[in-house]
Amino acid sequence: MLGRVFVTWQTSLDDGCDHAITDEKFALGSQRRRGEFEAVCGSVFCLASSHSPPGRRCACCVAFLRARIGRTA
Ligand SMILES: [Zn+2]
Repeated sequence: MLGRVFVTWQTSLDDGCDHAITDEKFALGSQRRRGEFEAVCGSVFCLASSHSPPGRRCACCVAFLRARIGRTA
């Protein structure tokens, strides 16, 4: 089913890339309190500090969003 996907871009502590996390996965990650979140590309990662500069966007997340909604914002 196509529809709007609400995501936030978060920097991974592991690879330094920004990954897209849906609102649902972000809420789930927060509930689990493990500090791990699952991106739309399937990567599970720890968030870098919100004070760190943004990284480059994950190519897999960008491809997923382009395929899903036809744009990346
Ligand atoms: Zn990703």
